[in-house]
Amino acid sequence: MDQRRQMLNTLSFPGKGAMAIRTPREDVPVIVVSEVMWPAGLDVLTTFASTLYDPSLWRRPEEMLRHLRTASALIVRNQTRVDGQLMERAPKLKVVGRLGVGLDNIDLDEAQQRDIAVTWAKGANAISVAEFVIGSILTLARQFHRLDPSVRQGEWNRPNFSGSEIYGKCLGVIGLGDIGRKVCDRACALGMRLLAFDPYITQLDPTMLARGVKMSDLDTLLGESDFVSIHVPLTASTHHAIGARELGLLPKGAYLINTSRGGVIDEVALYAALKERRIAGAALDVREQEPPPDDDPFRSLDNVLMSPHVAGFTEEAQTRTSIMVAEDVIRVLQGGRPHFPAIGELHETLLPNAAS
Ligand code: NAD
Repeated sequence: MDQRRQMLNTLSFPGKGAMAIRTPREDVPVIVVSEVMWPAGLDVLTTFASTLYDPSLWRRPEEMLRHLRTASALIVRNQTRVDGQLMERAPKLKVVGRLGVGLDNIDLDEAQQRDIAVTWAKGANAISVAEFVIGSILTLARQFHRLDPSVRQGEWNRPNFSGSEIYGKCLGVIGLGDIGRKVCDRACALGMRLLAFDPYITQLDPTMLARGVKMSDLDTLLGESDFVSIHVPLTASTHHAIGARELGLLPKGAYLINTSRGGVIDEVALYAALKERRIAGAALDVREQEPPPDDDPFRSLDNVLMSPHVAGFTEEAQTRTSIMVAEDVIRVLQGGRPHFPAIGELHETLLPNAAS
């Protein structure tokens, strides 16, 4: 064990990683990490700062606020609500690090007013999410999730499992940013036709043109797609952007895949469309309420695939994310500018209090 690690008072902690507590000292900044962070990033932090790591701290807001009284940095995922109230009670806070890319749980305007930098892991988990989307498309088309349990139950029911090819099918991508583009790369390799809707992209770059991507308006995309995959941030204009009207435009055999944020889809309208089989199915990695309530009506549907917000949750993505954020947080604490600033990167104001 090296000297730095010896300096840490490391306690075992259930779940991912360990809870590393280092007694706060006067001469180094204090960093609070309130959600799961991969060890590679924690190692970077502890070389420089006094680090309090507790992956479930976000569940105990009052305790977290107590720790934040002395903290210069706070590192979160998507569960910790970083709003004006929190910032008010963290007078030394200089930087917030977001272990991921959705920023809907952070009040960026408030941070900017208080001169608190916000840094994020822009692009770090895009490959993982894109691979998850392709997996979801194939699973919806071929029912992978049903094949193995059926054979285990002694069935050999081939007619029940005739699926469909995705080759030649149309994939509509809503939001052509880091993830949307990587989804297009992979879907192109599988022979899918590609439509994209993104009001902030006026001209396609050569890579997307080479993939055969065609820009479209939203209604045309919805009307022509066999699969629709959503990759937009949750903002005032994307909140419930897919509602009853938009779902009504989808062909009856269409599948909807959401790995962005639950709040982008009106879940009441989606439930009705799935229940009445007005669309073929959906894959939902994200939900309006996470985790969903015990009486979640989607549980009773056999045409929905659900996962607990894990599209970007791979070793590779989380290692990249944790190092990127740790290094940027330290950069700010040392008086530098973040390499991946979140403030000013977005096209519009995020919804206040809209973490999903
Ligand atoms: P990004 O910023 O690179 O791309 C988002 C794209 O959406 C941009 O091109 C933007 O122009 C476009 N956009 C914004 N408003 C739009 C609108 N109203 N209609 C259509 N397009 C619009 O972000 P990204 O890295 O591709 O991530 C997208 C979202 O995916 C994130 O904001 C996050 O919420 C979510 N995400 C989820 C997971 C997961 O594990 N499920 C992991 C990573 C990201």
